[in-house]
Amino acid sequence: MVRTILQKLNRTSPDPILRSNNLRGSMRSRLGLVLVTCLCCFYLTGCSILMQLLSNPSDKPIAATIEETGNYSAMNTELATQALTEANNIATKATKAIPVKELTEAKFDYATIPAFAGEASVVVNNNVPFFTDAERLAWVPGTEVYPDLDALDRCGTVYACVGPESMPGAGMERGAIGMVKPSGWQTVKYSELIEDLYLYNRCHLIGWQLGGENANESNLITGTRYLNMSGMLPYENQVGDYVKQTGNHVLYRVTPYFVGDELVARGVLIEAEAVEDATMRFCVWCYNVQPGIEINYATGDSNIVERTIAPDAEIVQLVLNKNTKRAHLPDCPSVNDMKEKNKEFFEGTVEELKDRGYKACGRCNPY
Ligand SMILES: [Zn+2]
Repeated sequence: MVRTILQKLNRTSPDPILRSNNLRGSMRSRLGLVLVTCLCCFYLTGCSILMQLLSNPSDKPIAATIEETGNYSAMNTELATQALTEANNIATKATKAIPVKELTEAKFDYATIPAFAGEASVVVNNNVPFFTDAERLAWVPGTEVYPDLDALDRCGTVYACVGPESMPGAGMERGAIGMVKPSGWQTVKYSELIEDLYLYNRCHLIGWQLGGENANESNLITGTRYLNMSGMLPYENQVGDYVKQTGNHVLYRVTPYFVGDELVARGVLIEAEAVEDATMRFCVWCYNVQPGIEINYATGDSNIVERTIAPDAEIVQLVLNKNTKRAHLPDCPSVNDMKEKNKEFFEGTVEELKDRGYKACGRCNPY
């Protein structure tokens, strides 16, 4: 069941500490009043589709609900046509090879995600989000949807139409989130491998800078430090900067992907698409991994990866730093810090590397 913006704006936390921390409370109540008035007007003038979406009593997808109502007003039809035309334009510009029909019908398939190979994120579906035209229509500025946790207390897909309305106001500071224990949560330190010591962060699905949500349990997952900082943050910054520079809006959807009954997500799919212009759009997968550490996604348990030492003649796939003459495993944290111009992907024998004057990195011990 989705928590709509009205519920979101009017809800209070059962925890008095949380409630007192909710700096946006009064602002939201006023905004809520305005929205209620607007929604009533919409409803009375026959634009009932938005109401049905916001009070969607079932777990049916939004697209299906729209189709079933068959109740487009002239305004909605016009908007739909406009959205479709824009979507066509965007799709044509970015990926000429893929017909638009296939794009709109495409669905995310975890099986298409390659195994982690040293990059914190990979592009999915040629960087085209999986939004349907109906979804594009349903998101009005300020919409934020955080579904309830599932039976295993796991987060679902969160949505926001990110814009000046959804972002925290100037001078606002992040509230405490330490009381939330996302599914699979464990407090565990790896001082020798992770800069900030702790393997897991409470990862905001919709970053605080975009949605302003603090201790919202539907927006926090157990994510590695690496997922948070190297995977998700650069994309959040991209969206945040775009909104700050233009005052425009971005359809933004984050899906944590859990395999079976696992409690820790394998990663998150982030989809973003500018509403007012076609200057920003992406669809990416961020891996919930931590280089050098093995995670049991079913429970959240973890351990340091045991490296087997390859004999000199064995073929290895490593990343070389041409500047420091060090060889690294692709998932070594140092690879992330390496300048692109110094990076070289190497496939060959350790012997060959030694001949070229390369030494094994002391951090990841590749051979
Ligand atoms: Zn290394």
